[in-house]
Amino acid sequence: MQHFDVAIIGGGPAGLTAAMTLSRSLRRVAVLDARRPPRNIFADEMHGIVGLDGVSPGEYRRRAWADLEKYGMAELHEVTGTDVTPDPEGGFTVTAEEGPPVWARQVLLATGMVDAHPKVEGFGECWGRTVIHCPFCLGWENRDRRWAVVTDDPEFAATAAAVFSAWSDDVIVLANGAMPPGERDGEIIDGEIRRLHHDGGDLRAIELADGTIIERQTMLWQLDQRPVPLISHLAEQLGLAVGRGGYVETDSSFRTNVSGLYATGDLITASQAVVESAAAGSGAAFQIIADARWPLRDVPSGLSR
Ligand SMILES: Cc1cc2nc3c(=O)[nH]c(=O)nc-3n(C[C@H](O)[C@H](O)[C@H](O)COP(=O)(O)OP(=O)(O)OC[C@H]3O[C@@H](n4cnc5c(N)ncnc54)[C@H](O)[C@@H]3O)c2cc1C
Repeated sequence: MQHFDVAIIGGGPAGLTAAMTLSRSLRRVAVLDARRPPRNIFADEMHGIVGLDGVSPGEYRRRAWADLEKYGMAELHEVTGTDVTPDPEGGFTVTAEEGPPVWARQVLLATGMVDAHPKVEGFGECWGRTVIHCPFCLGWENRDRRWAVVTDDPEFAATAAAVFSAWSDDVIVLANGAMPPGERDGEIIDGEIRRLHHDGGDLRAIELADGTIIERQTMLWQLDQRPVPLISHLAEQLGLAVGRGGYVETDSSFRTNVSGLYATGDLITASQAVVESAAAGSGAAFQIIADARWPLRDVPSGLSR
């Protein structure tokens, strides 16, 4: 079994930034990243990342690995982590679906979250283009269009037109059948969304279950999220604290309630963006380094320097 200072589970912006900080701090790192497309693959370009604005999610990861390879401290394992087992003498064994386990003194969970895509015809084609989850990521590309905001939160509904007015002066709210009656403020259209009419992902109209057609060019739809199966498993097996919405609970230094196990990135917050995840990845790496209490050159095997 290969030994590492740190195993990072998840090779998105959070995990890769942690790997960079750890590499430059001479830690041997295994990055376990599942062989599946990134969550943001539906968008052709990433925005809001100064110096990398417009880069595709795939290109971002390629560049990150080109940077990491310069240091020779991080190793990519294209596998899905299935378990993290604390060793009685310290450290963890991390097992994966596809390959042999690795051992590491500390483990960082950076698995991101899974978006629960609704079963609405046309959603997949429009998601990440004209059906968007975040105005900061894709609002600019959708400016000066007719927007619909989907929400079950009455407070959010009441402020939507004002909040999004810079991107659109025509914003309506769709409750999608989920907003509790009696708590409403302002004009809200009820009705289950059945189908999105679009031209190659360019939204034209929203069709409700009762047949009503609402002409809209952009939808802002913040989907429910859930953690990946590994996190639910660790909650059961290790008692890893997972809070409301499925986000892993940490202290302000990214430590979970399991000693030696850290969590970062989208996995710990609903406030999600590449820069925020990267910053959290770096912060988690700082803490991992601060908490290390052993001679670092003592790791028995793993990467050579
Ligand atoms: C459509 C869309 C467009 C977006 N556009 C932007 C944008 O323009 N700008 C912006 O700032 N943000 C954007 N975001 C948000 C941004 O993508 C996320 O905030 C960011 O990717 C989170 O980084 P992360 O590393 O925490 O998680 P992720 O990027 O989700 O990475 C997690 C990684 O962990 C892997 N993984 C999960 N489980 C396991 C496991 N068990 N074993 C091994 N690997 C595992 C996953 O495969 C993935 O590679 C967008 C999101 C979406 C959905």
